[in-house]
Amino acid sequence: MIRQKIVAGNWKMNGSKESILNLVNGLLEGSKSSAEVVIAPSFPYLSQVADLTANSQLTLAAQNVSEQAKGAYTGEVSCSMLADFNVKYVLIGHSERRSLYGESDQLVAEKVKACLASGFKPMLCIGETLAEREAEQTIAVCERQVAAVVDTVGIEAFKDIVIAYEPVWAIGTGLSASAQQAQEVHQAIRAYLAGLSASVSEGVQILYGGSVKASTSAELFTMPDVDGALVGGASLDAKEFLDIIKAAG
Ligand code: PEP
Repeated sequence: MIRQKIVAGNWKMNGSKESILNLVNGLLEGSKSSAEVVIAPSFPYLSQVADLTANSQLTLAAQNVSEQAKGAYTGEVSCSMLADFNVKYVLIGHSERRSLYGESDQLVAEKVKACLASGFKPMLCIGETLAEREAEQTIAVCERQVAAVVDTVGIEAFKDIVIAYEPVWAIGTGLSASAQQAQEVHQAIRAYLAGLSASVSEGVQILYGGSVKASTSAELFTMPDVDGALVGGASLDAKEFLDIIKAAG
């Protein structure tokens, strides 16, 4: 099965009205690609980016969402709020959410469930720490993180879920996994899903994230189980991000 590549930019807590205007305009000029190009601004800028990207090939993602529907949850943002801004994807379980804000596998699974119920496609982020890799726990950790979601929403739901494998030691560190290391883990994740449903496993898009740059993306995208990239730092630079998009074909 041919899976469309996705190149997604996670802008994290960066940007201003002005810098975002420049960045989006830069991307609009050159983002034609066979890959789906996704950008994830922080919440205050969703409206601005939704307006700037209307009728373009750029797709919008949110960086997080509440598992709750509405009410007394100060500082949180609900799925129904995101629905007002043309959002298609929501990053769920990014390692910064897991490590800095204590998001457990179960909370991540609840957020995935809330997204699916509202018609969003979750980008489920998984990945091991350096200590876990050194203890040869990489595959076990990734399987555990995926299994928590399977247990909550079922395997068929993965037809609408994108997985982003992001080794924690590679995020924001400049230390990218090699294309072969990424392939090894992606293949293992797909094999795990195949044990539950061959057809779901064949279709699920698995992105790699962790210090992806234009210079490393071409080799990464030749790997058979790498279906694109989730890009942090390099997505804040229009030229660098466009070069990664170009490498995706
Ligand atoms: C990320 O935050 O999802 C990420 C992969 O960041 P970076 O590319 O900066 O490592």
